Amino acid sequence: MSIRREKSEALFEKAKTYFPGGVNSPVRAFRSVGGTPLFIERGKGSHIWDADGNEFIDFCASWGPLILGHANDKVIEAVKKTVENGSSFGAPTALENDLAELILSNNKYIQKIRFVSSGTEAVMSAIRLARGYTKRNKILKFEGCYHGHSDSLLVKAGSGLVTFGNTSSAGIPQSFVNETIVVSLNNEEAVKQAFIEFKDQIACIIIEPIPANNGLLLQRPKYLQFLRDICTENDTLLIFDEVISGFRVGFTGAAGYYGIQPDIITYGKIIGGGLPVGMYGSSVEIMSHISPDGNVYQAGTLSGNPVAMAAGIAQLTECLKPNFYEDLAKKTSVFVNALNDYAETNRYSFKVFSIGSIFWFAFTDALSIQSAEEIVPESMNYFKVLHKELLDRGVYTGPSGYEVGFVSEAHTPEILHAVERVIMECLDIAMK
Ligand SMILES: *Cc1c(COP(=O)(O)O)cnc(C)c1O
Repeated sequence: MSIRREKSEALFEKAKTYFPGGVNSPVRAFRSVGGTPLFIERGKGSHIWDADGNEFIDFCASWGPLILGHANDKVIEAVKKTVENGSSFGAPTALENDLAELILSNNKYIQKIRFVSSGTEAVMSAIRLARGYTKRNKILKFEGCYHGHSDSLLVKAGSGLVTFGNTSSAGIPQSFVNETIVVSLNNEEAVKQAFIEFKDQIACIIIEPIPANNGLLLQRPKYLQFLRDICTENDTLLIFDEVISGFRVGFTGAAGYYGIQPDIITYGKIIGGGLPVGMYGSSVEIMSHISPDGNVYQAGTLSGNPVAMAAGIAQLTECLKPNFYEDLAKKTSVFVNALNDYAETNRYSFKVFSIGSIFWFAFTDALSIQSAEEIVPESMNYFKVLHKELLDRGVYTGPSGYEVGFVSEAHTPEILHAVERVIMECLDIAMK
């Protein structure tokens, strides 16, 4: 059994003549699962349709932004209404105030914000702010966390407890890499050691408080609190990169989920309702260092774009409705528990890790996985089989075993229940 792919294949051949690897973002090329990426034509609710007319229940959700599902009526209406009056002015609009008001009056962890156009831009700006504010150069990040593709952050761990990383991309000067310290997640000793070795030099620690770009590496709340405390002791800023977790595990993201106050928070994905928006926020005092109030420069031609703001307002307004997050979490855990029960009954080395409406298929017997090093690369061979079998049966997940899946408001309990059966059938094949 295999789905038709003729149209996607033809489109991909064409795309390869235009774009490196035929794509505009690498993971879309299906390299880690093999085969041709599907060219998507349209989406509605929990479903998408590709160029060959195949229909899928989608758990990729554009990698997270679509918490209401595809082509949500309220979001579409807001976008249409706004774009009719012009798509960009490069001058302030009231919509920026409206989205800011909606966010700030419902999130006590930030007081002042700046809108940008992507998660990468939000993180890059937050790092510059941390450096400008502390007048220090070094930053500390964790192996297994992704923070977008800016130079200082495309750095992976070297060998040793505390290391300057190795760049994970060509084109990044060694001098940049030398300012980025990389340590393992869930390792207090490594962080303590870094503060000893680089006393008074570390501008910030940046972490995905819910690491969800390299599997789902749920951290101990005590570990996050430890990071908060050691930053405070060293006058180092703590940055929570909440580009995935923000507005996902709750309106106030991981900061609210764990009750930890970081110094700067970055957002993206959900905030723009499927259009390109990022944001970083902090206290009034720290944000006063941003240009034109302060001397940390940061700007953007399309920042605060009215159409994107309108989409964000429409989406976040839905998220603020009573029980929105409770309902999402509840149906996700029913789904996840059913799969875990099935795997246990069949003694499969398979576990679904989850938090809120984020889940990750892990081929493991471990009860928890908290650092990138604990993921066994060979386990991805099982994912490859699972991914293909799921696609053939109309279930679309991100084309890499390191990626998480997302449940949206549009995934009804009935749909999820039906998908459980399909996943179980595919697991039987993958685990043989
Ligand atoms: C997606 C993501 C980014 C990058 O956002 P883009 O919009 O792709 O630039 C940064 N940090 C985290 C935690 C992300 O999940």
